[in-house]
Amino acid sequence: MPAPLRLRLDAAALIANWRALDRLSGTAACGAAVKADGYGLGAAGVVARLAEAGCRDFFVATWAEAATLEHLDVEVAVLHGVRAEDMAAALRGHARPVLNTAAQIARWREAGGGRCDVMVDTGMNRLGVSVEQVQQGLLDGLQIDTLMSHLACADEDAPANARQCAALHALRGRTAARRLSLASSAGIALGADYAFDLTRPGLALYGGVPREELAGVVCQVVTPEAQILQRRTLASGESIGYNALYTATAPTEVAILNVGYADGYWRGFSNTGSARIGDAVLPVLGRVSMDLTAICVDAAPLLAEGDWVALDYSLPHAAALSGMSQYELLTGLGARAERVWG
Ligand SMILES: *Cc1c(COP(=O)(O)O)cnc(C)c1O
Repeated sequence: MPAPLRLRLDAAALIANWRALDRLSGTAACGAAVKADGYGLGAAGVVARLAEAGCRDFFVATWAEAATLEHLDVEVAVLHGVRAEDMAAALRGHARPVLNTAAQIARWREAGGGRCDVMVDTGMNRLGVSVEQVQQGLLDGLQIDTLMSHLACADEDAPANARQCAALHALRGRTAARRLSLASSAGIALGADYAFDLTRPGLALYGGVPREELAGVVCQVVTPEAQILQRRTLASGESIGYNALYTATAPTEVAILNVGYADGYWRGFSNTGSARIGDAVLPVLGRVSMDLTAICVDAAPLLAEGDWVALDYSLPHAAALSGMSQYELLTGLGARAERVWG
């Protein structure tokens, strides 16, 4: 049964974004963060297309996510490392762990685990061993592919960026790591110093713009499209939706769309979002419901029950309108939508 909601996914835009980020990464390789099911786009579909374009390094959060990519024959690293209950999966070797703690490292050594990545904390204080632990030899003897760190404030011009960058540079040569890696999407825009040997963009691959420098570079990849379930005319003075948040001041042509906040079309789009058919702009009327959203179709009165409209979903603009982050706007998508690559 075809769903009444779909995500139109632009493969050419995804690949163009990866190529642009790869160019900006200079001599460093450019990987892809595909955790959270490829930021809502579907990890397997994203990985297949990026691998075809030449991307070699993929990052997921968990072993369950890694398992969904097993059939694709690509290099996958699992950012959350290995808990005891992950070891059976990890030792099968279809992905490598990013070890984050002394306990994870001990677990990996004791099990005779081979190639791994390591996260070193340079100031974010989230995951990773400390710089001091690395200096004291905690990683000695490990077969490390990539020694990585993660920037806390890369989307701002914060002094912490240069400090974190210097802290990772200071570890060059201290371990057997084949590569060093620091930059995610925003970090790539900070310049060549931040690229090291491998970059790990996520957001910008999918059309997100974390820093102005990337505004002209990144293209939109995802467009949600919803089907019209009902048409009606609102008389002047009538209101619509929960809590009657919109009242018509003139007769208004309305379409009810099969999309709501349970689909990731958040309540912040109430009375602010819009849809589009051709050049006609169709503003959201009233409150977004769980499964339904009303739009004004005065600009396209021929729209009928069963027709489809595209939601305006340019991520920087949609984030400003809805009060959600560009990350949340992506990762919320997809639970009930059909994904259509074109
Ligand atoms: C999510 C993540 C990335 C990608 O970050 P974006 O801001 O989406 O580009 C890179 N590295 C790590 C460790 C991450 O957790």
